[in-house]
Amino acid sequence: MHSVKQPGLLPAISPATGKKLADIKETPLHQVSESYSRARRASSKWSDISITARLTYLKKLKSVMVDEMDSIARTISDDTGKPLTEAIVADIMPTLDSIDHIIKHSEKDLRRQKISTPVLLFGKKSFIEYMPRGVVLVISPWNYPFQLAMVPIISALAAGNSVILKPSEVTPLVGKCIEELFAQAEFPQNTVQVAHGGKEVGAAFTKGKPDYIFFTGSVRTGKIIQEQAARDLIPTTLELGGKDPMIVFADANLERAAKGAVWGAFTNSGQVCMSAERLYVERSVYPEFLQRLKEEVGILRQGTGEEADIGSMTFPAQREIVRGQLEEAIQNGAVLETGTSPAEWGDDMFLPLTIVTNVTQDMKIIQEETFGPLLPVVPFDSEDEAVSMANGTVFGLNASVWSRDMEKARRVASQLVSGAVVINDVIISVANHGLPFGGAKESGIGRYHGSGGLRMFCHEKAIVEDTGKNAAEIQWYPYRGKYPLFLQLFQSYFKEKRDWPKFVKSYLALLKRSK
Ligand code: ADP
Repeated sequence: MHSVKQPGLLPAISPATGKKLADIKETPLHQVSESYSRARRASSKWSDISITARLTYLKKLKSVMVDEMDSIARTISDDTGKPLTEAIVADIMPTLDSIDHIIKHSEKDLRRQKISTPVLLFGKKSFIEYMPRGVVLVISPWNYPFQLAMVPIISALAAGNSVILKPSEVTPLVGKCIEELFAQAEFPQNTVQVAHGGKEVGAAFTKGKPDYIFFTGSVRTGKIIQEQAARDLIPTTLELGGKDPMIVFADANLERAAKGAVWGAFTNSGQVCMSAERLYVERSVYPEFLQRLKEEVGILRQGTGEEADIGSMTFPAQREIVRGQLEEAIQNGAVLETGTSPAEWGDDMFLPLTIVTNVTQDMKIIQEETFGPLLPVVPFDSEDEAVSMANGTVFGLNASVWSRDMEKARRVASQLVSGAVVINDVIISVANHGLPFGGAKESGIGRYHGSGGLRMFCHEKAIVEDTGKNAAEIQWYPYRGKYPLFLQLFQSYFKEKRDWPKFVKSYLALLKRSK
């Protein structure tokens, strides 16, 4: 199905048809250092211009994206095998929305902030300044190849950095499309560079000493990148995998919960770090809920184009991970409620939507990220049991709790060790750019989106200003005769009820000795 790779070229293969779409020129490894030199020159110019001026470029980018929306959606869909609707809803829209959010908030978030100054630092003023870090390396994955590259790029740019993007080699057409969009939006040369290639290219750029690394991908690669970053003391954000639990209580709106579970588990063929990968259902409604799930799955259309609900898998190797987990579960007694066993799968990349029951907490299908259209369903008897099973993996990215009792839903949400929790919906917290996004445990390090998602691309600099009028400060040399006065000063200041007369007296005495 897949043609052999030519040296120096990355083949873009349609996972839905197996046909080659294009060859993209790889970035030679010997160009790494030259790319960084170009990026550094670009970053010093880009950081010098005002945020307002940077935003005019982002506005232009947004307008190009709106004009080219259909063609971008088709490129994403061709390259990943996902339905066009998912390309536009989950890749393009969140990117545009993040540009809007950044246009609205970045000037306020990145301007010098005045901070109150304690009385002990009398006569001074305090500020925080946000200074661009320099060159940001963004390494992105194939599941949402547009959004997961564009949002960190745009945030890093708004904060005044130049960017090198290493897109996933599995979806090279989208990488090329991103490169072209920045060219069309006429960003200054080398402010955004795209390094095309596989993991060797990613590794070479990681070793090239960027000023920040923003990585989205697997836990395994995240750990490799963090190791290199530790050697060079480079700060990182790691957005890694998930095994998100969905907890459905008997008092939930079951019709909505069943539709939500099927969408949450199977959107993007389950290749979502925040997809519902484990479904815990209160035992009293378990049989009824299972029936509802089967009915919802039964109406979905698999294929390509505008009418499809479910596309193909994107990455051939991922199909084998899904196969391995399902085979292990079946061998250990799991029951298929929908779908077929892997022995009956065809050769193509369209996998059956598979609901699995009779699974145990120790199975891979419950413990490891699947990233495919498998949904294990497990009954639970109590709130505590649901929380303990939901927290029982190494991941903690997102989760959902379904109940009409909001107090109970909030109580459970508070107990989940997770970067986000959605009540009576799935995944959607990622769509509010005002909320932090990131994982707990092995799901990652750091948060982006919101003010934090801009400020993390800056050095947070503390500034203290003094008018410089006094000849000296009270804590400066010489110390002779000052100890008893400091004793009085601090005792009067820190005691439960401040003794201001004593404080002022000792302060003036210290000042006198400091002239
Ligand atoms: P996934 O395939 O699930 O997206 P990966 O972690 O394999 O996750 O890949 C994510 C991104 O990381 C891709 O762009 C890939 O080329 C890149 N990558 C893989 N291995 C390395 C590595 N050792 N160093 C830097 N980047 C890498």
